[in-house]
Amino acid sequence: AVDASHDLSRLVASVTAFESERATVAELRELEEYRSRLVSTIAHEIGNPLAAITAHLEILDEVEIDPEVAVSLDSIRRNTSRITKVSDDLLLLVRVGNPGHPLSTRTVDLRRCVSEAADLVGIAASRKHQRLDLCLPQDPAATCGDADELDRMVANLVSNAVKYTPDGGTVRVSVTVHDTHVELAVSDSGIGMSGEDQAQLFEPFFRSTAPGAAAQPGTGLGLAIVQRIVQRHGGEIQVTSALGEGSTFVVTLPLAT
Ligand code: ADP
Repeated sequence: AVDASHDLSRLVASVTAFESERATVAELRELEEYRSRLVSTIAHEIGNPLAAITAHLEILDEVEIDPEVAVSLDSIRRNTSRITKVSDDLLLLVRVGNPGHPLSTRTVDLRRCVSEAADLVGIAASRKHQRLDLCLPQDPAATCGDADELDRMVANLVSNAVKYTPDGGTVRVSVTVHDTHVELAVSDSGIGMSGEDQAQLFEPFFRSTAPGAAAQPGTGLGLAIVQRIVQRHGGEIQVTSALGEGSTFVVTLPLAT
């Protein structure tokens, strides 16, 4: 009887612990939802006045302005576009990080995403005298999902590769079709990252303080967005990198059937 009551009290204790753990998970989920709502409300609140400022700046484009004021206006323009980018990226981050947000499911050919990303960064790469090598299969590399999100994911990885690679370097983008998945690999011969930086890479607002990285403009939201897009498409993202030697990002996504 003593054993049975001991077992029972242990069982009660573990059920209570389980219940309180469940409460913690529910609380965490609620907190996460609150945080997402807060971030998107702030981003919207910032977005409306920003749109008004941008519209007024466009009107001033038409007006002749004395050189001293032009310098100030230029700074206002640059900073306005920076805040606009942060606010747009925050809204996208909340959207793609929300499991309840519907995902459209069209067939998307990753070869097209890569060609469009290469077009976008082509000028920046050639200004830096970089080689941009594309290695695409003859047949479609089809996955299922939201074309805009997948375009954004590929463009972010390719533009980071160009951005964090010094002049004269090489960026290589390849797409490979396997039995059950498609693989995208973006490699660069750039500045690379320490192990410590790699561990924080996908956290919102993370920016490396390594020499060469901090000098580049950015919001630190790009890779957080990339990771969430990959995850909500049922895929995985991995990075291998060494300081001063370059980085490779590999994304695997389910093959469209
Ligand atoms: P951003 O480029 O806007 O700062 P990201 O989220 O795209 O933000 O990247 C976060 C950080 O990860 C960058 O600031 C940079 O330090 C590092 N990083 C990203 N891609 C690379 C890369 N290909 N090579 C080296 N560092 C990179």
